[in-house]
Amino acid sequence: MALSDLSADELTRLESELSSEYDSLADRGLSLDLTRGKPSPEQLDLSERLLALPGEGDHTAGKTDVRNYGGGAGLPELRGIIAELLGVDAGRVIAQDNASLSIMYDLLTFSMLFGTPDSERPWKDEPKLRWLCPVPGYDRHFGITEALGIEMIPVAMGEGGPDMDEVEHLVATDPSIKGMWCVPIYSNPTGTVYSDHTVSRLARMAAAAPDFRVIWDNAYVVHTLTEDFPKVPDVDSLAAEAGHPNRFLQVCSTSKITFAGAGVSFLSASEANLDWYLGHTGIRSIGPNKVNQLAHARFFGDADGVRDHMQKHREIVAPKFEAAAAALGRRLGGYDVATWTSPEGGYFIDLEVPDGTATETVRLAKAVGVALTPAGSAYPYGQDPDDRHIRLAPTLPPLAEVEEAMDVVGLCALLAACRDARK
Ligand code: PMP
Repeated sequence: MALSDLSADELTRLESELSSEYDSLADRGLSLDLTRGKPSPEQLDLSERLLALPGEGDHTAGKTDVRNYGGGAGLPELRGIIAELLGVDAGRVIAQDNASLSIMYDLLTFSMLFGTPDSERPWKDEPKLRWLCPVPGYDRHFGITEALGIEMIPVAMGEGGPDMDEVEHLVATDPSIKGMWCVPIYSNPTGTVYSDHTVSRLARMAAAAPDFRVIWDNAYVVHTLTEDFPKVPDVDSLAAEAGHPNRFLQVCSTSKITFAGAGVSFLSASEANLDWYLGHTGIRSIGPNKVNQLAHARFFGDADGVRDHMQKHREIVAPKFEAAAAALGRRLGGYDVATWTSPEGGYFIDLEVPDGTATETVRLAKAVGVALTPAGSAYPYGQDPDDRHIRLAPTLPPLAEVEEAMDVVGLCALLAACRDARK
């Protein structure tokens, strides 16, 4: 029966049952962690062979000796594989070092210091800088814009992506809005896949700022939880057709394909954007780690090699998502108090609890040994105005721990909702 349909007596009884069950959890001495979207050791083991690659004596790719300086754009062998996965021309992808987050940080700091190819002046010299942030979204994106003093404007996420009426209106009318964060496939944390319609509107919309940019973070482009892979839109071509050839800056990495701390990151963009980016990176480095790039090229072989590898990840990760959904369903299903996403890929579940109870749910869980990301962390400045969203990351712990932790989360969410309803 829905929580809202319970009589005052029934609500009191339910709360006291849940409270005593909750109190008994303290004796179990749990220490479970659903905070960060990290691959599990078992997933990392899938790439163990990479540690022996490229191997002694294997250091030449084409005419390049990967041990030496140079090759700022990265190895064509690996760029070709990623370009195929992104559905773009190989010449439109460059390979860098281990973190796409570093590329994103570069993109914004270079824009701040020097301006983009379409800027009238460095962004730091603009009177005001603003940035659109679909919410809930990725906390580390918001960390970059916050650190650079760019004012963040939240835009609500819907089924097929951000609220495009709002985005189009803001971008067309406010020249201080210089860009937008987007995770178009299996978004962090909602798992949303942007619809074709949303993508087309993003590519075509008018922008008041001539140097408006979309950072198109395709971190989960091949991270399916099903047998199928998502369709990857060629945003550069769509935007170029609409007269905005430099709008999209697409990034991705192998962090959650091979090793989270020792993968390869990629930038895909127009020729002008890539030239601009490499012009600046060429000052700060004499080239990326091409040994690791060659190791990855050898490890994957081709784009199908990546797809096969991702299916092995799926075999490990999908049961954890299923177990998480089942545990939440058992606890919360009958009460009509919470909803949670059932993503077809990516690393997260977004749990929506009654307004004003997310912080309390996280506090209750922490007190009995289940660590969750702080409520609000999926919002700019850590502020969820409704105190409603909790990001759950089920990949890192073993399956049995995911089940146990999710059960506790469900219990805590229901207890917090009960107490709130009785206020
Ligand atoms: N983008 C998104 C949306 C992510 O969720 C993550 C990892 N949690 C990253 C980027 C980080 O990627 P990288 O390891 O390549 O820096």
